[in-house]
Amino acid sequence: MADARTTRLNEKITEAIQHPKARNSLYACMERGRASRAEALQEMPGGASFRTEIKAIKAACLENQDELLERFVANMKKRGTKVFLAEDGAAAIDYMLNVARDRGAKTVSKSKSLTTEEIESNGPLQEAGLRVVETDLGELIIQLAGEKPYHLVFPSVHKTAQDVAELFEKEMGRPISSDIDELMVAVRGYLRPIFLNTDIGMTGANIGIAETGGIVIETNEGNGRLVSSIGDCHICVMGSEKIVDTLEEALLMVMAHPVSATGQCPTTYVTWMNGRSPLGEGAPEPRESHVIILDNGRTQMREDPALSEALACIRCGACMNICPTYGVVGGHTFGHIYPGPIGIPWTAAVHGLDLAADFAPLCISCGLCKEICPADIDMPYMIAEVKDRANARYGTQTVDRAMMAADRIAALGSATAPLSNWFLERKTFRLLLERTIGLDRRRSLPRFERRTLKRRFAKLRGDAGDGADRKVAFFVDVYADYNRPDLGETAIELLRASGCSVGLPKQKPSGYPYIAYGDLTRAREVARYNVGHLAPLARAGHDVVALEPTAVYALKLMYPKLLPGDEDALAVAERTFGFFDYLLKIEDTPTVLPLENRRLGFHCACHQKGLDAGMPVMTWLRRLGAQVELIESGTCCGMGGTFGLKTGPLGYELSQAVGEPLFDAFERSSVEAIVTESSVCAIQLAEGTKFRVLHPLEIVSEIGRPG
Ligand code: SF4
Ligand code: SF4
Repeated sequence: MADARTTRLNEKITEAIQHPKARNSLYACMERGRASRAEALQEMPGGASFRTEIKAIKAACLENQDELLERFVANMKKRGTKVFLAEDGAAAIDYMLNVARDRGAKTVSKSKSLTTEEIESNGPLQEAGLRVVETDLGELIIQLAGEKPYHLVFPSVHKTAQDVAELFEKEMGRPISSDIDELMVAVRGYLRPIFLNTDIGMTGANIGIAETGGIVIETNEGNGRLVSSIGDCHICVMGSEKIVDTLEEALLMVMAHPVSATGQCPTTYVTWMNGRSPLGEGAPEPRESHVIILDNGRTQMREDPALSEALACIRCGACMNICPTYGVVGGHTFGHIYPGPIGIPWTAAVHGLDLAADFAPLCISCGLCKEICPADIDMPYMIAEVKDRANARYGTQTVDRAMMAADRIAALGSATAPLSNWFLERKTFRLLLERTIGLDRRRSLPRFERRTLKRRFAKLRGDAGDGADRKVAFFVDVYADYNRPDLGETAIELLRASGCSVGLPKQKPSGYPYIAYGDLTRAREVARYNVGHLAPLARAGHDVVALEPTAVYALKLMYPKLLPGDEDALAVAERTFGFFDYLLKIEDTPTVLPLENRRLGFHCACHQKGLDAGMPVMTWLRRLGAQVELIESGTCCGMGGTFGLKTGPLGYELSQAVGEPLFDAFERSSVEAIVTESSVCAIQLAEGTKFRVLHPLEIVSEIGRPG
């Protein structure tokens, strides 16, 4: 049964899916963002390697934050800046109101301040009689529309030129054209007197520099510079996590931020402010500079080991440009004030678990946001933690419990096959499953095999025996055990044919659904069990080889995270390989090309993207003569493990909407079949396209073992 929270979320998803205009604008913006970033990275020496440096700098700064804060404050004061450490939003707003009162201010012009969005300061300032005007075009549009940001960097991306023209028409009381050039002239005309007559300019800061006491403001419209320099009083509101130690570190941030956000390097206007200089001889009074450093839950976040990494965020918005579900529903559904992936842990820490739990289920645990983040922040893991806490407080949805039990359901299906298969073919039984456990009846499920791989294992041919140079501990997971043991058999035979001794140690399926749906206690239990059985083998020189990309991801990346400081987990991770990665290392180059003239379109599962990006299997297929094209939409196929098996908007419907661009990409291609290593992506692609979808090892079954 869906609770009120899920019902609300379902309604919002349905509404978002039904608005193709906003979806298309958002999608185009995300695509542009990813493409510009990729282009910029190609031109940068070292490509994306700067992420390591940014991660290290942010980690060190957060570690030493108290000392950096002290130095930053002292150096700012030396430059004549008035500094206020605000414990929360209310204290920050009080300070702003006092400054405004003391100066008899009437207008406040603002630029680039997500932090003031976070504390929702516009309302109280306006209630106190101040005219508050956002001057970044995106923020101004949002302000006029009375909405919250849709995207961190492009807050009004969902609005068309016509929408914007209508908003300005209403504000300015005269007709405004939706022609972009004319619109821009009108906006400039509207903003110019505001810049020139503002009493207080209010900005955020992208960076605070401890060694100089300076701040850095990056903008593309130049308005940050106008707002911070024309008026006699400048107030900067920044989070305490923005402070770095040195100028050199700040320079790296100035590069990393725009490259990740818009593919620029650097942003068009980079303002380095070190207090304010007087206006010159005869100036009526010194110009004021205030910096409000906001805590608002950040100290508590720093002390929360599961969420502290969120403080490394440099607000580039790149994670929004890749998140598959955000790309469909946008920031008004996927976000509170901070939208997108980072919005989930940030909202949980700053605004409370209750608000974060409203949109955390939109995360389908694809892992892509971590791969694109310039600070290499592990958002997927933090989000799993938020889901875990939300489940503990508010309870777990029935359908999510069922998805977490997928391995046990598969074991039951296999033990009762062929009867289970007969039942699964009955429409009434599928309807019953949909109504009771939320498994969408439209999904075509793989058949269960009674004789699992584990049962067949003893009879498999050709083990290289104890004297073999390479010893493999084969990790089976669910699909190759209960549904397609023939693929597992082929895999083991290929390993053995290449001289490996292959064993099937005691193991449980990877347990990834526990991470995806937020039961980290069970996830840890499974990780401990598998690590406990695999680590002695890994230490004895065995390699752990898994077929399913998500299993490799769990063993290599997730288990060490679930079991921090566990040397066994690290030992297993180090010796874990994806099947084709391993096979390529050991198999002889084939002498015949049985796949010549085959045109295959490869789909890379999300969990592979951060590991080997599917290169080994594509290379392996090409070695057999196939033409292999990587077909990409840039995000996910939409299945998200078992997410797309769930019925309703927060499942099947959203999954289809996410998958559409990839389905279209395959339809436009000239491939004859799709190849993917992921058992669940295969279901999505077979249903969403007209193509036959094959596991690479099915091709082996078709052509016979390569040789
Ligand atoms: S893991 Fe995937 S679905 Fe979840 S927030 Fe990150 S990009 Fe979005
Ligand atoms: S979490 Fe990473 S990718 Fe997302 S906005 Fe922050 S720095 Fe950018």
